[in-house]
Parts: sequence; C-alpha cells; structure tokens
Amino acid sequence: MDNRTLAYWQDKFAALSIEGRAFIDGEYRPAEGGQTFDCLSPIDGKLLVKVADSRAADVDAAVAAARRAFDSHVWSGLSPRQRKAILLRWATSIRDHLDELSLLETLDAGKPIRDTTTVDVPGAAYCLEWFAEAIDKIGGEVAPSDHHLVGLVTREPIGVVAAVVPWNFPILMASWKFGPALAAGNSVVLKPSEKSPLTAIRLAQLAYEAGIPAGVFNVVPGSGEPGKLLALHQDVDCLAFTGSTNVGKLIMQYAGQSNLKRVWLELGGKSPNIVMPDCPDLDRAASAAAGAIFYNMGEMCTAGSRLLVHRDIKAAFLDKLIAAARNYIPGNPLDPQTSMGAIVDNVQLERVLGYIETGRTEAKLLLGGSRVKKESGGFYIEPTIFDVTTADATVAREEIFGPVLSVIAFDTVEEAVEIANASQYGLAAAVWTSNLTIAHEVARSLRAGTVWVNCYDEGGDMNFPFGGYKQSGNGRDKSLHALDKYTELKSTLMRIR
Ligand code: NAP
Ligand code: MG
Repeated sequence: MDNRTLAYWQDKFAALSIEGRAFIDGEYRPAEGGQTFDCLSPIDGKLLVKVADSRAADVDAAVAAARRAFDSHVWSGLSPRQRKAILLRWATSIRDHLDELSLLETLDAGKPIRDTTTVDVPGAAYCLEWFAEAIDKIGGEVAPSDHHLVGLVTREPIGVVAAVVPWNFPILMASWKFGPALAAGNSVVLKPSEKSPLTAIRLAQLAYEAGIPAGVFNVVPGSGEPGKLLALHQDVDCLAFTGSTNVGKLIMQYAGQSNLKRVWLELGGKSPNIVMPDCPDLDRAASAAAGAIFYNMGEMCTAGSRLLVHRDIKAAFLDKLIAAARNYIPGNPLDPQTSMGAIVDNVQLERVLGYIETGRTEAKLLLGGSRVKKESGGFYIEPTIFDVTTADATVAREEIFGPVLSVIAFDTVEEAVEIANASQYGLAAAVWTSNLTIAHEVARSLRAGTVWVNCYDEGGDMNFPFGGYKQSGNGRDKSLHALDKYTELKSTLMRIR
C-alpha cells in the first residue's frame, strides 16, 4: 500500500527544479529568440516555470538534427537488438524517476497523483519496453514469386517522425508515438501540448542518458506554432498526431500543401455506452459508466460521454449511476486520496462550463453542473449528468472533454445502435448485455475502433490496436500494427537465373 501523503508530495514539489527548455541535438536550449510562455499549474493557477516557445528556427534546428542523425545511421543502423537494449535502459530510467515524472505530470496537467504514479508514467515505460521487446522478434516476408526470382518484403524506418500530442495523457500519448517510431529506427521530434510540456522535456534528457544518440529524440515545446510548422515541414517524413478532429483536419491539409508526409491521426470521440435491460450486473455497469466519464476529469478521448440506457431500467440505473458518480469528488490532485483532479487550464474550464450552460437549456440537469474549489485558484468542475430527451442535443453530440455525461433513453436494440452510430466520431463504444447474440450483433454493428462488452476502458496493455473509425482518425496506436505507421514497405525482387 502506498502510504505517501499530500505533505510528501508537497515537500517533493518544494525541492523540485523544473526544466523548461527545448531539447535539440542532445542538449537543452532556450528558444533561439529567447521567447517563453508561462506554464501554469491548474491546481492553483500559479506559475510553474517559463517554457521555451519554439518557433521556426527551433523547429528547423530540431528537424535538421533528426535528419542528420537518421542519415548517419547512428540509430537506424543499429541492430534491432542494440536499439532494444537502449530503449529498455530508457524505460528503466523512467521507472527510476517515477516520483519526479508523476509529480511533474500532476502539477502540469492536474491529473491525480494516484493515477500518474500508477497509470501514466508506468504506462509510458511499459510502452517503450513493449516495442523494444517486439522489435528484434519480427521480420519481413519472402513473397511467393516466379521461379527465377527471390522476392523480399521488408520494412524500413521512414526517417524523421514528428509527434504532436495532447495534454490529457501527456507522457503516455507521447510514448505511444515515440515508442514504436524509435524502435523501428526513426528519428523523432516531439511537440508536446503547450498545456502540459513538462514530462516530455524531462524525458528527453533521460533518453539521452540512456544512450539514445544526439538528434534522435528532440522535444520542441511551444504554443500551437511548432505543430503547424512540423506539419508543413518539407523534411518531416511522417506526422503522428493525437488531438482534436479540427486540428487533425488542418494537419492533413498542411501535409497536402507541403511534402505529402504520412499523416496519422488519433482524434476525438463521443463514445456510446449502451446498457441493455438484460445487463448482467447493474452495479458494475453503473460504476463503469461513472468511471468512463469521470476518470481523468472526463478528459478522455474514449470517454463514455453518451450513456444509452433502455427505458425499462433507466430510473433504477440512474440511481446507481448517481451514487457511483459521488465517488468522484474534485480535490487537490497532489493528495493521494483524490480521485478527481483539476481541469487542465482556464481555457478548457471555460469551454466545459459553456457546454454545461448550453446543457441547462436543452436537457435536465441530474447532477453537478458547477465549478468548485474556486478559492484554490485552480480549475475544478464537479461530475455533471444531463438527461437529454433528443440524441441530437449539443451536449449529446459534441465532444466536451470534461466531466459531463449525457443520458439517452432507448426502446429497442436497433434504436440503440442507430443512435450510437449517429455521430461523426467512432473511437470506442460499449454494450452491456447477458445475451450472446445481442453482444455479438451489436459489437459488429458499432462503427468504432474499440468495442467493449460488459466492461469499459479494459485492455490497458499494449496488445490491442487503438484508434478510430470515421472522424476519430486513421491508423492505430499500440500493438504491432502501430509499427505500420513508422515504416515503409519495400519489395526487393532479385533475379537469380
Ligand atoms: P488539440 O487542440 O487538437 O491539440 C493537440 C496538439 O496539436 C497540441 O500539441 C497542440 O499544440 C497542437 N496544435 C494546435 N494547433 C495546431 C495546428 N494548427 N497545427 C498543428 N498542431 C497544432 O487537442 P487538445 O485540446 O490538446 O486535446 C484534446 C483532443 O485530443 C480531444 O479532441 C481528444 O479527443 C483528443 N484525443 C484523442 C486521443 C486518441 O487517441 N484518439 C487521445 C487523447 C486525446 P498547442 O497545445 O500548443 O496548441
Ligand atoms: Mg499545464
């Protein structure tokens, strides 16, 4: 049992020195023009550190360093076994710095320390380990061919991979990109969100110390600008993005305007969680439904933000759901007792509160609806539940990315599937039923990259591909399929007679 207390983490914070510079070509550097932006903590709204605000000169320097490293084969030329050894050393170092990295993540993004120490930071180390362990065990193909030929099908690293990531799982989402990209032999330029750049910046030094050569892993923090510059860059070969659908659309355009770099998008969601009247365990389903939207303050791409409940069990289920939601009480995320932390910043706070105001005009408020702990100076919103009468209400349609749930009643299986699929998104979905036929049929009918049956958010290991249908994106993170994004497929045909 973890017996560290709020005082423990506050003492650690008092002793913490925070790095805010970019990491380019094996060293920390301020932005070339010296400009910075303020990195605030959502816990109390106070300044943590001034962070390098990278612009074109910095992005160009990072891409050039990545290109030099790639062309020199200092990384791509190592055997998979050698890359594995270095990546495993880096993962071990992340685990050795668990407290420091978790603290940085909690301070920067407002996530509960109980989650950053158990999910985010160990998850990033595990992701690295997983791809490190995989890379020396997979090979190419010898293709069937005419007798006079030998045909090889091999995979090669693409070159310079830019990773542009969001703020809700900063270190974890980043690792889902740089893990497979580096394992495959690419060089990486990582652009963290301006709302949560600190763990990425710290990671870069750990990578370098573990033996990742200079230029192979670079970090360019900044405010929006470097993401666009990377997407428009002529010398970036691949851009792996996690973020909003709107920015994803821009990134595809930037690729088209520049060098047709490969673009991989993990985007938003409005995932349906369907509870059938024959749900095998209503208590478990209610607890999972609350976790699906209130874990991580609802700042989850897979958030089960649309709860579809059969009309016959709706009243009973809502009672259980509201009881389960009361377990999520916004509090200081540095306190290990806290299960719900702060919203990432003031902008996101206002955005979520705006949606709640809209919800009040179009639906019935069942729980919450307010900003709390305002006196802390931080950004906290209580779990909020709306009963919506029409599935096309704004709060039931748009991604809010906060602790706001819309409950929608349905009468038939067909109607549930129709409502579930009537969304621009298709990231995840769930169905709760005791009927094997309904489980399979609904799972097949749902247009989503992940479908859970009688659970939600299961599968935290790396074995399942993760990504979206429709406007939730393309390509898949995690699993061996992720390597497809960071490799080119080559056919080599040799005439032997
Ligand atoms: P966002 O606003 O789209 O930002 C994502 C990243 O893109 C940030 O690093 C951002 O930098 C950068 N960016 C902003 N404008 C850009 C531009 N014009 N060109 C290139 N890059 C640009 O998303 P967010 O608010 O950080 O994250 C929330 C979104 O991410 C939600 O929609 C959520 O569903 C999605 N998400 C999806 C997944 C998934 O796996 N499918 C996982 C997590 C989150 P700045 O921070 O500097 O603006
Ligand atoms: Mg922050």
